[in-house]
Amino acid sequence: MNISRWLYQTALARPDAPAIRSGTDLHATYADFARRSAAMGRYLADTLNVGKGDRVALFVPNCPEYLEVLHAVLWVGAIIVPINPKLHPREAAWIVGNSGAKVAITQTGAVYPDAGDLDGGCSELGIRDSGLTKAAQDAPPMTAPVDMAADDVAWLFYTSGTTGRPKGVMATHRNLVAMSLAYAIDVDTVSPRDNSLYAAPMSHGAGLYHFPILRAGGCHVVPQSGGFDPAEIAGLARDLGDLVFFAAPTMVKRLVAHAAETGYDGTGIKTIIYGGGPMYLADIDEALDRFGARFVQIYGQGESPMTITVLPRDLVADTTHEDASARRASVGYAQACVQVRVVDEAMHDLPPGEVGEIVVAGDPVMKGYWRNDAATAETIVDGWLRTGDMGSMDADGFVTLTDRSKDVIISGGTNIYPREVEETLLAHDAVFEVSVIGMPSEDWGEEVVAFVVLRDGAGCDTAELDTWCKGRMASFKKPKTYHFVQDLPKNSYGKVLKTSLREHAAQRSEDERRA
Ligand code: AMP
Repeated sequence: MNISRWLYQTALARPDAPAIRSGTDLHATYADFARRSAAMGRYLADTLNVGKGDRVALFVPNCPEYLEVLHAVLWVGAIIVPINPKLHPREAAWIVGNSGAKVAITQTGAVYPDAGDLDGGCSELGIRDSGLTKAAQDAPPMTAPVDMAADDVAWLFYTSGTTGRPKGVMATHRNLVAMSLAYAIDVDTVSPRDNSLYAAPMSHGAGLYHFPILRAGGCHVVPQSGGFDPAEIAGLARDLGDLVFFAAPTMVKRLVAHAAETGYDGTGIKTIIYGGGPMYLADIDEALDRFGARFVQIYGQGESPMTITVLPRDLVADTTHEDASARRASVGYAQACVQVRVVDEAMHDLPPGEVGEIVVAGDPVMKGYWRNDAATAETIVDGWLRTGDMGSMDADGFVTLTDRSKDVIISGGTNIYPREVEETLLAHDAVFEVSVIGMPSEDWGEEVVAFVVLRDGAGCDTAELDTWCKGRMASFKKPKTYHFVQDLPKNSYGKVLKTSLREHAAQRSEDERRA
């Protein structure tokens, strides 16, 4: 089954229901939405020969047309490749090339002006100023999406590996249906009255969660700021009501800080689904004090999209159970369509309370990595997805994450992979050795800190390295602090001891605070 049939059915059943808003302005009803997607799909098929299994990259910031184009691609059986809009165009071009996309849809249609910027066979289209828009305007009567098998790939989701090279996670129509069913059972009741707000990038979890809302006939609200602005969210909540949105813990923290300043009490917000990074107990307690029982936590990863564990609303808010605080500090228990285990290196179950790797099996688990059988074989073992996350499970099935085994830095809810930053810095002539770690940050959850050993006699400073990174990577990945050191602490195998670096960085900032 093609998951775009959900849009088709909702458009038949509720043609006049508001489907997409830009702020409070109506952008499309469900009849408009489906007709435009069908027409743009036909345009892609007729003019660019896009069909079943072809890849179409979508490299644009959140906008009201986002979901229309996404469904245009799925409508004709092609695979959508949403790319984080914060990436540098060069990083995005790598993903376009790796996915073998036939078409890259960008904000202007001219992000890649030079021939050779994109792989030879790939065409670039602007999301607004192209034949796509004209097709959407003409929108002839709607036809049904093409039929697909449940295990056909729908969404190619690029997540970075510790190697620094992004890997394409193949999410099938079945995976997305399973994720949506688990949403409706475990995460939130879905209703045509829902106003689903996209305050985080639609290329990621927030966008994935549009599927259950679409099925229910709820409205998709793209904030006019295109991103996360607490005052705007409070305004939309008051004007529209029943606001539902996914937010990284750092976003929740900023919303709560805004509420503390303005006295806003969460009126108009139905549900805030948080996840994607650690939520500290003090922070969720403060959020509950301000907004009451409006929070649900999920834990997932691209490889099992949004669907590993859930901590439901009543348990997030519970204060009566003897383990209430420990449960609130956990990520909850396995979602309805998966089984979760904590295992040792030989994949044997560990007893309650013991820390091991979290593994998961069930219908949302990806088909594998795109054109990367070796990585797939390492990651899915006997049907169990190895998450790379360390944690423990208590006797009641609640999972507590202790560490990310791979030193991923999560800043503002977005993953940053140290190796990628390290490789960029090492490409500079003056840099001899480098190690990158994440340090706690009040504003961002974590921020990037680089330890740099310069080559003998090389003259180079923070400003120069900052400019170097700026030209090569998205700005959110750039180190916020550079420490120039004589050498890096290493163990007897020559591996850099990141724990020592963290202690060192903490000591330095403590010294600076005192000075
Ligand atoms: P991504 O594949 O980019 O969505 O990142 C997934 C990773 O984010 C997971 O493997 C975890 O390390 C982390 N993560 C996701 N949800 C949570 C959560 N609720 N609490 C703590 N970490 C989380």
